[in-house]
Amino acid sequence: MEAERRSEITLDTSQCVHCGLCLASCPTYQVSGIESESPRGRIFLLERIQDDPTLLNDNAMRALDDCLDCRACEEVCPAHVATGHLVESWRAQAAPLLLERGPQAMKQFRRMTRPMRLLLGSPLGLKFLQWLARLTRHPYFGGWLTRLPFVPPAASNLACGLPAHIPHRLSRSYPPHPRPGCTARVMLFSGCIMDAIYAETNCHTQDLLELGGLEVVVPAEQRCCGALHMHGGAPEQARRWAIANIEAFERSGAATVVVNAAGCGSMLKEYSSLFSGDPVWEPRARQFETAVEDATVVLASLKLPEIEKGATTVTLQDPCHLSHAQGIRREPRQMLTRAGYQIVEMKESDRCCGSAGIYNLTHPQMAQELLRRKIEDIPDRVEWLGAANPGCLMHIQSGLCDRPKAPETAHPIDLAWEAYRKAGLIGGVS
Ligand code: SF4
Ligand code: SF4
Repeated sequence: MEAERRSEITLDTSQCVHCGLCLASCPTYQVSGIESESPRGRIFLLERIQDDPTLLNDNAMRALDDCLDCRACEEVCPAHVATGHLVESWRAQAAPLLLERGPQAMKQFRRMTRPMRLLLGSPLGLKFLQWLARLTRHPYFGGWLTRLPFVPPAASNLACGLPAHIPHRLSRSYPPHPRPGCTARVMLFSGCIMDAIYAETNCHTQDLLELGGLEVVVPAEQRCCGALHMHGGAPEQARRWAIANIEAFERSGAATVVVNAAGCGSMLKEYSSLFSGDPVWEPRARQFETAVEDATVVLASLKLPEIEKGATTVTLQDPCHLSHAQGIRREPRQMLTRAGYQIVEMKESDRCCGSAGIYNLTHPQMAQELLRRKIEDIPDRVEWLGAANPGCLMHIQSGLCDRPKAPETAHPIDLAWEAYRKAGLIGGVS
């Protein structure tokens, strides 16, 4: 069903019949009420710019750059217009222009895509990122570091959302614990932020997959999925990492690539679009993307032991790139219910929280307004808020850290792992 929907989406603006059915689902339109900040408005702008590039003035550029790429509009569009994809393609083409003429904050963070390549592109860079994140959480140095004059306020805010405990090793160095009688081999996609900042979640994913009878391999040569660079208008870098990941998968002997970060999963499932028309890489990328599965989908299918329902309540934020881009909503709930949690639904749980890659850094005002609305929608007295994407977790946590009686935030995999640990089905500490 999901594959069917993905094959139906079109990058052709002429498919838009201007019906406006997408408007109500667009978070930037909900906040601004302005047509140019809606999917229909953005399609209209793209059409006009294609006809006459001189029409690209600052207002048009800002309206297109304000798109969260959340894909909410794509899910409801009867003509299957891929507005998020279209805007993303435009950004890749217009990257030099945005650097030259875009607003100051936008330029500053677009320039960051190069240093980000060094941080996210190798285990050494990730170790440095991990160390920096630990320093930021340090009770003395942390406050000092985030108040340095060159640190933008949006980055200081986001630092409040970092997890309290950040490990000293990358998750890819965690040893496998295969159980006898494994039924299949899977490759765990370790990612970049997940590998460094949320390394424990990757280790927990591995434990749960092994509990379900799978052999898990975590190739050391895999790289970042490339989503941040793709969204930031640097597709060349995304392509280089995609090649490294495809080769790592082919060598691993695994049948499935398991991924626990919604943004990475959505990117990995679209790798073939990076190589359109390439006779060598397009077919290999297509084979790779059909092997990609979200971890909650795999775990729900493994039918892990059922734990008796307890009193612990969880509400779920459905990340845009899990719900709208991949159509996955049921499986995280199934996994947590099986692990004994009570799910309390949040209003519009699939509305973007404002994180959207590095959108919360490049567009702090809109991101904070979307975060405020998200926090307002969290049900009362719920103990946990789960989100299967590192960006959403950090962003939502940053909005909750100074609120009394706020729920704790965690990846749903961590919650499931904790329930199985308490039940004695997974041993030791992570
Ligand atoms: S993008 Fe789709 S839903 Fe939106 S106006 Fe065009 S056809 Fe209608
Ligand atoms: S991708 Fe999201 S923000 Fe962009 S036009 Fe569609 S609904 Fe609006």
